[in-house]
Amino acid sequence: MLDIHSFRKLSNGVKIPLFGLGVYQIPDDSKLQHAIEAAFDAGYRKIDTAAMYRNEPGVGKAIRNSTLTREEVFVTSKVWNSDQGYDETLRAFEKTRKNLGFDPDLYLIHWPVKGKFKATWKALEELYDQGHLTSIGVSNFHRHHLEDLMSNARIAPMVNQIELHPRLQQSDLVTFCQQHEIHVEAWSPLMRGEIFQVDELAQLAEKHGKSIAQIALRWCLQRGLGIIPKSDNPDHVRANAAIFDFELDDQDMAGIGRLDRHQRIGPDPDNFDF
Ligand code: NAD
Repeated sequence: MLDIHSFRKLSNGVKIPLFGLGVYQIPDDSKLQHAIEAAFDAGYRKIDTAAMYRNEPGVGKAIRNSTLTREEVFVTSKVWNSDQGYDETLRAFEKTRKNLGFDPDLYLIHWPVKGKFKATWKALEELYDQGHLTSIGVSNFHRHHLEDLMSNARIAPMVNQIELHPRLQQSDLVTFCQQHEIHVEAWSPLMRGEIFQVDELAQLAEKHGKSIAQIALRWCLQRGLGIIPKSDNPDHVRANAAIFDFELDDQDMAGIGRLDRHQRIGPDPDNFDF
């Protein structure tokens, strides 16, 4: 039975909530504070930020201003591409922990920058050894990036956060990650809003008395994936969490399984230039 507090145990035993709030493109102002407040009220216990989102200070502030303790919230941040490399990453992490006002739980390599991500990983291993982080991982890594990284890593990545939604199901990569005890988190699970144009989901929405967004989010969870839908609208924040009172059956899951078009909203990790 899935509920809003459902978690996955990472390969090192650390519990990561499956469900959380993404805060990409939410400016660091009252909007962010209200969104996180609504999220905590609705039961969210994971916040996904990054140095590149420029809102780590607001994330830290919202957590301190909440009634929750630091330990009750799982916080992810990420090292940006221009900060990759061993020394650069250690410096970037210092900035992140100052911005937040505490160490994040999970720190990710945001994108697999060629020629750099292995040195970046060494810095993450070091930070993990020093006890700054309970978990370390990557984002936007294809299978070949993971194989390359793991070929000489001391610690295997615990998480891979990738673009994933009904139009980009990433089945082979998910299977590879599961075989290697790498937890997969889906970014842009709502296709940045384009999910509402996937007409085939409308029938399922009607069948379950749910919205298209809720069907897409529930489908990710039933695949065992983490999700971090983003919204700065408190009504949407609450609606995105109202996915624990229904279940997609095998036929529903298979139907969504047929909607894959290998269609990306963001860039292909083999071909990005930022
Ligand atoms: P998303 O798929 O979560 O969609 C967000 C969009 O959908 C927003 O425009 C929002 O207003 C709208 N929306 C959300 N809930 C809605 C609802 N109930 N009804 C109507 N509209 C709704 O897109 P995203 O922000 O790209 O991805 C989610 C999170 O994933 C980000 O905030 C970020 O934390 C993370 N992310 C990570 C990476 C990465 O490289 N690791 C890249 C992109 C995003």
